[in-house]
Amino acid sequence: MSFIDEINRRRTFGIVSHPDAGKTTLTEKLLLFGGAIQEAGAVKSNKIKKGATSDFMEIERQRGISVATSVLAFEYRDIKINILDTPGHKDFAEDTFRTLTAVDSVIVVIDVAKGVEEQTEKLVEVCRMRKIPIIVFINKMDREGKDAFDLLDEIEQKLHLTVTPLSFPIGMGYDFKGIYNIWEKNINLFTGDPRRDIEETIEISNLESPELDNLIGDKAANTLREEIELTKGVYPEFNEQQYKEANLQPVFFGSALNNFGVRELLDCFVDIAPSPRPKESDTRLVDPKEKGFTGFVFKIHANMDPKHRDRLAFIKIVSGKFERNVPYLHVRHNKKLRFSSPNAFFAERKEIVDTSYPGDIVGLHDTGNFKIGDTLTEGEILQYKGIPSFSPEHFRYINNADPMKSKQLEKGIDQLMDEGVAQLFKLELNNRKVIGTVGALQYEVIQYRLEHEYGAKCTYEPLNVHKACWVEAEDEKSEEFKEFKRVKSKFLAKDKRGQLVFFADSMFSLQMTQQKYKTIKFHFTSEF
Ligand code: GDP
Repeated sequence: MSFIDEINRRRTFGIVSHPDAGKTTLTEKLLLFGGAIQEAGAVKSNKIKKGATSDFMEIERQRGISVATSVLAFEYRDIKINILDTPGHKDFAEDTFRTLTAVDSVIVVIDVAKGVEEQTEKLVEVCRMRKIPIIVFINKMDREGKDAFDLLDEIEQKLHLTVTPLSFPIGMGYDFKGIYNIWEKNINLFTGDPRRDIEETIEISNLESPELDNLIGDKAANTLREEIELTKGVYPEFNEQQYKEANLQPVFFGSALNNFGVRELLDCFVDIAPSPRPKESDTRLVDPKEKGFTGFVFKIHANMDPKHRDRLAFIKIVSGKFERNVPYLHVRHNKKLRFSSPNAFFAERKEIVDTSYPGDIVGLHDTGNFKIGDTLTEGEILQYKGIPSFSPEHFRYINNADPMKSKQLEKGIDQLMDEGVAQLFKLELNNRKVIGTVGALQYEVIQYRLEHEYGAKCTYEPLNVHKACWVEAEDEKSEEFKEFKRVKSKFLAKDKRGQLVFFADSMFSLQMTQQKYKTIKFHFTSEF
């Protein structure tokens, strides 16, 4: 197969949802279709119940053994599909945001009864900003939920999407009869038997046909006819280009648990979802079809097994071929590195690969060379953009609790920050170290990992900061900027790259500061 064919047959995507909407269940059914797993229950949920750290540790420990869950690859209709795992728990949202920099499209799962939930809103906002094509899957149609039209309205309003249904439910909950597939113009009747893995669909190319009445009864048939007619009036016609440009979002209905409506979703996904897309770097736009290899690190996974301290850096291949044992340039370090055992991931295993293509993810063993956002190339000096740090929401001083182990603590903190677990700041005033995180759960994770992986102990002290923002002065030599630095000296810190950060102790003080210093910009992400 040619290089171009290899690129064209790849679909790399993420499934995002609020916890419990059915992401894990849907992932599992997709893998069943791909023949990647043999039975239900094979995919481990990455769910953290009630925010317990012990759960997180257990999950991480299991994953340390089977990191394959971070990327699930399978083939379906000669298409190579890579699903990137995104944690649903809000404390790990940053991890999900970063993973979204490596996908070419997403499927958003929504619970028909709960509608649009908080996490969904946040994640879809990020997808919208990045113009990522979205397909929506409305799940749990076997349960009583919201009216389909109301829910489509809600999705448009809360998620700011322009939707168009490509399938439509016939009844719901107790009365759920099946779905009409607008995309393929056929009907799939619901039997409620989840063991079926091949669905029977019935061709209904003409909705007026009396066959429809025989199948689902006059009443349901007439309702369906009216509703499909209505959808045509209300929603724009599906257009693949519009979907790919993220201006139009097709919607499917189904029940993941019953493996119902999933085949329809997958078939349409394979037809319309984009193959690897060009990516912006600091110097130019890079096309996947270029010969020269480039890629970037979007995730670093620590090995939780203390006997193997190495980490796995996940690289998304943007352009060219990635080959085993070929030296590539680590742009930030300006150093060539070669990789003798790059891993490729499948549903239940990982294996060493010789060649990978754009859209693929390879896992590289790393002893501390990589941090999130690092770029690899064949020699060109370029850096991929779009993996910002987000303004943290929790802040604590970190102290060394074992003076004999200060080196280990230093190294541990350094590496955990490279992995993107949290952000380290140093106060300008006294050089004290402050850890900023998106979720409170991270503090326990850091403490646990410092102890178990680095043999270091830390304690925390509270610090009253409402928000940290990156400071950008129009003119660094201006009197205004000098005054700002003098007046706010107690609230200034540097991040790991040496960028100036302002710690606002309340929303109010942030607003006041913004108003007072008009030539200074305050940013909520590190990339501006
Ligand atoms: P996640 O947190 O988004 O990964 O959600 P899960 O896939 O773990 O599903 C959450 C719960 O919803 C589980 O108890 C599933 O069995 C259940 N569930 C998933 N899909 C369906 C569905 O189609 N119908 C019903 N009734 N329950 C479902």
